[in-house]
Amino acid sequence: MSFEGVESFAGVSVLVTGGTRGIGRALVKAFAERGAKVTFTGTNEAAANEAAAESGHPDNCRFIAGDVSQADSASAAVDAAVEHGGGLDVLINNAGITRDGLLMRMGEDDWNKVMDVNLKGTFLMTKTAARRLMKSRRGRVINITSVVGLMGNAGQANYAASKAGIVGFTKSIARELAGRGVTANAVAPGYIQTDMTADLPEGAADSLMGLIPLGRLGTVEDVAEVVVFLASPEAGYVTGQVIPVDGGMVM
Ligand code: NDP
Repeated sequence: MSFEGVESFAGVSVLVTGGTRGIGRALVKAFAERGAKVTFTGTNEAAANEAAAESGHPDNCRFIAGDVSQADSASAAVDAAVEHGGGLDVLINNAGITRDGLLMRMGEDDWNKVMDVNLKGTFLMTKTAARRLMKSRRGRVINITSVVGLMGNAGQANYAASKAGIVGFTKSIARELAGRGVTANAVAPGYIQTDMTADLPEGAADSLMGLIPLGRLGTVEDVAEVVVFLASPEAGYVTGQVIPVDGGMVM
C-alpha cells in the first residue's frame, strides 16, 4: 500500500522509536512519503536499512541505533532528529516489547524489562524531546498504547500495565504541554499483523476474530493512517485522547 497523494509533511521533523519493523516501519514510510524528515530508532541495523529503502525515500530517513530505556540513547535520538530535520515537531513513542506469562509464573525480570522499554522508554523520550517540541509551531506527542492497556489480557499483566501506564502518562503530559502548544495523544491498536503477534498459539487468531466486529485483523497501515492524522495540522484541537484502531474490539 502507498501513502502517496496525501497531504504534505514537507519540512516537518518526525522522530519514531522502534522504526525498524512492524508498525514503526509503516510509520517511517508514511511520513517519509509525505516529505517529512524522519529519524527512527531501533537496535537492528540491517532491518533499519530495509526500512529506509522500503520507504522509497531513503534520503528523508535517518536511523540511529539505541535502546529507548537508556537515557543517553534518548538524548542521542533527539539530537539526531534535530540535526536531520532542523528541529523536532512530532515524537512517536512506538517501540515496545512483550514478555508474556501468567502472573503466577511471571518473573520480576519479565516485569521490569517490559516496564523499562514500554513505559520508562516513553517517559525518557518525551522528557528529552519536550523542550524541542515546545519550540515547534506544531508540536505533537503520539504514544502507541494497546487495547490490552484498556481491557487487560490474561498472560500479559506486565504488558497491559505498561500500556495502561502510557494512557495515564499521555493524559498528564497533554495537560502539562497544552499551554506550550504541544498536543499529546495515544493510539491503541487492536490485533495488528506484525512480528509481535506472529507467535500466537494455533487457534488463538481465529478466536480473536470473534471479538473483532469488522471481521479482519489490522494492518500496520491501518495504524499509520491514524497516527498521520494526529500529526497533521487538522488534528490541532485534539489532545489527551486515546484512539483505538482495533476494528471495534473496544467500544
Ligand atoms: P514489532 O515487534 O514488530 O516491532 C517492535 C519495534 O520496536 C522494532 O522496530 C524494535 O526494533 C523496536 N524496539 C524494541 N525494543 C526496543 C528498545 N528497547 N529500544 C528501541 N527500539 C526497540 O512490534 P509492533 O510493530 O507490533 O509494535 C509496535 C508498537 O505497537 C508496540 O509498542 C506495541 O506494543 C504496539 N502494539 C502492537 C500491536 C500488534 O498487534 N502488533 C497491538 C497493540 C499495540 P529492533 O528490532 O531494531 O530492536
